[in-house]
Amino acid sequence: MSQETSSSQRWEHARKVIPRGASSGHRLGWKQVFVRSGGAYLWDREGNRYLDFLNAWGPIILGHSDTRVNQAVLEAANTCDLTGVGPQLGEIELAEKVCELMPSAEKVVFCTSGTDATMHAAHIARAATGRVKVLKFHGSYHGWSDHVAVGGARADLTVDAPLETVNSAGLHPGVTGDVVVVEWNDAAGLRAAFDRHGSQLAAAFAEGYIHSFGCVPPQAGFLELLRELCTRHGVLFVLDEVKTGFRAALGGIQSVNGVIPDLTAFGKAIANGYSLAGLAGRDEFMGHLGAYTRGEATIDGTYNASPYAIAAANATLGIMESEETIARIYALGERLRAGYARAIEEAGVEAVVTGIGSEWAVYFRATAPQNFRDTMDVDTARYGAYQAALLEQGVLETTSATGDRRLNASTTEDDIDRAVDAARIAFAAAAAV
Ligand code: PMP
Repeated sequence: MSQETSSSQRWEHARKVIPRGASSGHRLGWKQVFVRSGGAYLWDREGNRYLDFLNAWGPIILGHSDTRVNQAVLEAANTCDLTGVGPQLGEIELAEKVCELMPSAEKVVFCTSGTDATMHAAHIARAATGRVKVLKFHGSYHGWSDHVAVGGARADLTVDAPLETVNSAGLHPGVTGDVVVVEWNDAAGLRAAFDRHGSQLAAAFAEGYIHSFGCVPPQAGFLELLRELCTRHGVLFVLDEVKTGFRAALGGIQSVNGVIPDLTAFGKAIANGYSLAGLAGRDEFMGHLGAYTRGEATIDGTYNASPYAIAAANATLGIMESEETIARIYALGERLRAGYARAIEEAGVEAVVTGIGSEWAVYFRATAPQNFRDTMDVDTARYGAYQAALLEQGVLETTSATGDRRLNASTTEDDIDRAVDAARIAFAAAAAV
């Protein structure tokens, strides 16, 4: 296959050797194949330029192909590559930085993906409590290890589907009995779940601001209630900051809302696209990581704290601190949400835009959803028309009618204004459906 091969031919080739044509489900549903990236933009094989509002589902925070980050990675690779022996210098530096930034972090370990991080959190919680069950919120995504994958967001999910039917094939069928699923923002449901299962729960998993099904904040007091119930019942509160960490704030969403978890899973934005994730928490709990040969919870991984990703993270956080990236992306995000809200009003279409900082969601329904069930009545036909019209104008947003989207710090105010102009046309197209 040559460089000249068109996007559609590349998809065809890919499907012959990769199931469905791509190694991650979220990459499907596009006709484009992107071959170049830079700053706020992606270019497809045909040379079309797109303002990127996917940003690889979270990691790209400074901008695509950031030469400062890439240079740091090259330097690390050429100085001391993966040794597999002892800690490496950059790893210690980064651990110190995360402990300084993140309120809940007394100790931190690095792995390669958010899935790893939440899986290890479950293991630590079970080791610490001697209990088995975990609690999570309906529609929340925490990666693919069996216990947290139960009750995830599925396009074909009906409102009252029993838990067994919302598992993807291949998960251990036994896990459903050990997972308690509660609707987000349902305080009474949360209290009832703890009354019933509290003494058997090892951990409760939550995002501090839902991004699994768009952008749904916790109602006032909801996270505080979760914190209080966890403490009262001896359950570890695992905050999933894979999307919010180093993006909602350098210290994560926990530093915004002040609710401090026992363990924090993070990843994505920390390394501007290099595969790094981690788990941080109170010493008391992180201290449960030991040797599997002694029957203790373990973290072990050939590529954990890979020096390339660590170098990328140290460079990314250094730049974010010195350039006040968070303040910049918040201002851009607010400009965009205000523009989209005006465009919705102008088009007279039933839709809302929600979000925080650099992230937002567009729901084709009358009001902002409070939980996953609320998102299930969104008008997918209108969303399809909206998303296609944006794409046509070179603005790349998710194909999911309940998905979240985000900008990176290379985006300019002009880019935002252009996106708002494109959104005017896109909302009008949705109104016409
Ligand atoms: N938790 C959340 C909240 C996520 O959004 C994701 C990924 N989208 C994960 C966990 C899993 O992370 P990864 O894809 O790195 O395994």
